[in-house]
Amino acid sequence: MLPEDIRVFGNGGVKERNSVLIEGEDGFILFDPPGEKTVAQLISESCRQLGKSVRIIVYTHHHVNHLLGASYFPEGIICSHETTMLQLKEKEIDLGVRLPNLLFSSSIEIRCCRGWLRLFHCPGHTVDSICGVYGDILLGGDTILENSPPFWGEGESTTYLRSLAELSSLNISLVIPGHGKICGRDRLSIYVDYIEKLTNSAWYILERGGEPDSCRLPLSEFYPNYLRVMVPEFHLANLQTLSREWIARTQRKETS
Ligand SMILES: [Zn+2]
Repeated sequence: MLPEDIRVFGNGGVKERNSVLIEGEDGFILFDPPGEKTVAQLISESCRQLGKSVRIIVYTHHHVNHLLGASYFPEGIICSHETTMLQLKEKEIDLGVRLPNLLFSSSIEIRCCRGWLRLFHCPGHTVDSICGVYGDILLGGDTILENSPPFWGEGESTTYLRSLAELSSLNISLVIPGHGKICGRDRLSIYVDYIEKLTNSAWYILERGGEPDSCRLPLSEFYPNYLRVMVPEFHLANLQTLSREWIARTQRKETS
């Protein structure tokens, strides 16, 4: 299903992340470093067999579980969106995290064996999130998860929807999500549907005087097929963020 110059490590586990290894001419590009040492060892072994090392590591955003694995590949330079660097400094994320040294603002293209990997800013899950496209494959990072609803606890719903609209306009047929199994492009419309329904329902309640805390809509109404481990906490965090977005919107209206 995947071309032979792309390998996915960690695919399928509910909380397991996916690291994607793409073969370049003089080394590998590692999209999202692994969180576990055992996965890092598998990736290293794969590189050794093919006689190339990791040349570029891509941070998809600043969440710590997506950063620490870079220490297993000291030979790779680290590429990220420019706001990832700002987030790391602002939030004083240290823990021995390696800082990015190849930054981009809108997008960047990296030459690979059989084409170009395009990385581009795709905010929503977080302000600094990026996605990648290689051929007709979308590398989703945490913007696209297969085993849970979209999660924007510290992001923003309208930004997320804008990014999903951009992703929907791309000519892609497969999605390698940040967590979960490889899926099809229908994941994008499922995500749009979830965010739109949740936003409309939450704002309907809030605009009629409901308390933000009363806005805990039943999960099954919105996501009946994805009741797995990560889902309830993401769903509640999304509702809390929607409450904050609504309060900020109301305050903007009052001051204008
Ligand atoms: Zn994340």
